[in-house]
Amino acid sequence: MYNIFTFGFGQKHQNHYIGIHAQDEAACRIKMMNLFGKEWCAQYPDKEAAGVKRFDLKELKIEPYTCEKCSRGGMAFAAMTHWNCEVCNDRGLAGSSDTPTICDVCSHLKKECTKCRCKQPELCN
Ligand SMILES: [Zn+2]
Ligand SMILES: [Zn+2]
Repeated sequence: MYNIFTFGFGQKHQNHYIGIHAQDEAACRIKMMNLFGKEWCAQYPDKEAAGVKRFDLKELKIEPYTCEKCSRGGMAFAAMTHWNCEVCNDRGLAGSSDTPTICDVCSHLKKECTKCRCKQPELCN
Protein backbone atom coordinates (compact mmCIF):
# COMPACT_ATOMS: atom_id res chain seq x y z
CA MET A 1 0.00 0.00 0.00
CA TYR A 2 1.37 3.36 -1.05
CA ASN A 3 -0.43 6.59 -0.20
CA ILE A 4 0.26 10.20 -1.03
CA PHE A 5 -0.10 12.89 1.63
CA THR A 6 -0.25 16.61 1.07
CA PHE A 7 0.28 19.60 3.32
CA GLY A 8 -1.96 22.59 3.92
CA PHE A 9 -1.54 26.25 3.21
CA GLY A 10 0.57 27.92 5.89
CA GLN A 11 2.07 24.63 7.08
CA LYS A 12 5.81 24.13 7.14
CA HIS A 13 5.81 21.80 4.12
CA GLN A 14 3.12 23.46 2.01
CA ASN A 15 3.51 22.82 -1.72
CA HIS A 16 5.04 19.42 -1.02
CA TYR A 17 3.76 15.87 -1.00
CA ILE A 18 5.13 12.71 0.52
CA GLY A 19 4.67 9.04 -0.39
CA ILE A 20 4.28 6.63 2.53
CA HIS A 21 4.45 2.83 2.38
CA ALA A 22 2.59 0.71 4.93
CA GLN A 23 0.36 -2.34 5.01
CA ASP A 24 -2.92 -0.42 4.73
CA GLU A 25 -4.42 3.07 4.71
CA ALA A 26 -4.70 3.27 8.48
CA ALA A 27 -1.06 2.26 8.89
CA CYS A 28 0.00 4.90 6.36
CA ARG A 29 -1.90 7.50 8.37
CA ILE A 30 -0.27 6.40 11.63
CA LYS A 31 3.17 6.73 10.06
CA MET A 32 2.27 10.16 8.79
CA MET A 33 1.15 11.23 12.27
CA ASN A 34 4.36 9.87 13.76
CA LEU A 35 6.27 11.95 11.26
CA PHE A 36 4.39 15.22 11.20
CA GLY A 37 1.78 15.16 13.98
CA LYS A 38 -1.15 17.17 12.68
CA GLU A 39 1.01 19.15 10.28
CA TRP A 40 -0.41 17.65 7.10
CA CYS A 41 -3.59 18.05 5.15
CA ALA A 42 -4.97 15.10 3.21
CA GLN A 43 -4.39 11.45 2.25
CA TYR A 44 -4.78 10.20 -1.33
CA PRO A 45 -4.48 6.83 -3.06
CA ASP A 46 -2.12 8.19 -5.74
CA LYS A 47 -0.32 11.24 -7.11
CA GLU A 48 -3.04 11.88 -9.66
CA ALA A 49 -5.72 12.20 -6.98
CA ALA A 50 -3.44 14.36 -4.84
CA GLY A 51 -3.00 16.79 -7.73
CA VAL A 52 0.79 16.56 -7.70
CA LYS A 53 1.04 17.71 -11.33
CA ARG A 54 -1.88 20.11 -11.20
CA PHE A 55 -0.49 22.00 -8.21
CA ASP A 56 3.16 21.41 -9.07
CA LEU A 57 3.85 19.80 -5.69
CA LYS A 58 7.42 18.81 -4.82
CA GLU A 59 8.30 15.54 -3.19
CA LEU A 60 9.40 15.69 0.43
CA LYS A 61 12.08 13.04 0.95
CA ILE A 62 12.46 10.80 3.93
CA GLU A 63 16.14 10.37 4.66
CA PRO A 64 16.92 7.08 6.36
CA TYR A 65 20.33 6.77 7.95
CA THR A 66 22.64 3.76 7.76
CA CYS A 67 25.91 4.04 9.67
CA GLU A 68 29.22 3.50 7.96
CA LYS A 69 29.81 0.14 9.59
CA CYS A 70 26.45 -1.25 8.45
CA SER A 71 26.61 0.14 4.94
CA ARG A 72 29.98 -1.52 4.47
CA GLY A 73 28.36 -4.97 4.73
CA GLY A 74 28.39 -7.10 1.61
CA MET A 75 25.66 -6.57 -0.94
CA ALA A 76 25.27 -10.27 -1.65
CA PHE A 77 21.70 -10.83 -2.74
CA ALA A 78 19.99 -13.64 -0.94
CA ALA A 79 16.41 -14.84 -0.85
CA MET A 80 13.90 -12.14 -0.02
CA THR A 81 12.63 -12.34 3.54
CA HIS A 82 9.96 -10.52 5.45
CA TRP A 83 10.96 -8.45 8.42
CA ASN A 84 9.15 -6.17 10.85
CA CYS A 85 10.31 -2.76 11.90
CA GLU A 86 11.20 -2.91 15.61
CA VAL A 87 9.66 0.50 16.20
CA CYS A 88 6.44 0.78 14.21
CA ASN A 89 6.07 -2.94 13.42
CA ASP A 90 5.59 -2.20 9.74
CA ARG A 91 6.40 -5.13 7.48
CA GLY A 92 9.06 -4.86 4.85
CA LEU A 93 10.73 -7.13 2.35
CA ALA A 94 14.49 -7.34 1.93
CA GLY A 95 17.26 -9.62 0.80
CA SER A 96 18.20 -11.59 3.92
CA SER A 97 21.80 -10.37 3.95
CA ASP A 98 20.53 -6.82 3.91
CA THR A 99 17.63 -6.95 6.34
CA PRO A 100 17.07 -3.72 8.22
CA THR A 101 16.01 -3.51 11.86
CA ILE A 102 13.86 -0.42 11.53
CA CYS A 103 12.07 1.10 8.55
CA ASP A 104 13.13 4.21 6.64
CA VAL A 105 10.50 6.38 8.30
CA CYS A 106 11.52 5.35 11.82
CA SER A 107 15.18 5.80 10.92
CA HIS A 108 14.46 9.31 9.69
CA LEU A 109 12.36 10.15 12.75
CA LYS A 110 14.62 8.73 15.40
CA LYS A 111 17.86 9.47 13.59
CA GLU A 112 18.99 5.91 14.16
CA CYS A 113 20.82 3.54 11.84
CA THR A 114 18.37 1.34 9.92
CA LYS A 115 20.34 -1.75 10.98
CA CYS A 116 22.19 -1.44 14.29
CA ARG A 117 20.08 1.50 15.57
CA CYS A 118 23.10 3.53 16.59
CA LYS A 119 22.41 7.28 16.73
CA GLN A 120 23.13 9.37 13.68
CA PRO A 121 25.86 11.86 14.52
CA GLU A 122 24.70 15.47 14.37
CA LEU A 123 25.69 17.05 11.10
CA CYS A 124 27.68 20.26 11.42
CA ASN A 125 26.39 23.23 9.50
ZN1 LIG B 1 9.14 1.75 11.39
ZN1 LIG C 1 24.58 0.69 11.93
